[in-house]
Amino acid sequence: MDELPEQTVHCPFCDARLTLLLDTSAGAEHSYTEDCHVCCQPMLVHLTQDTDGHWQATLEQE
Ligand SMILES: [Zn+2]
Repeated sequence: MDELPEQTVHCPFCDARLTLLLDTSAGAEHSYTEDCHVCCQPMLVHLTQDTDGHWQATLEQE
């Protein structure tokens, strides 16, 4: 089992810098919500995987 990839992101609400463990268990091209560790707002995390197998997370306000 591969380790979960990490990505440094900025919270779309409070702009805090966070290290997210990307939940890749559901496969490529999915979204989930995770609460910001600083302001506790629900961030919508879009996960995509490029052709090299690298994961990319994009955050939005839910
Ligand atoms: Zn925040």
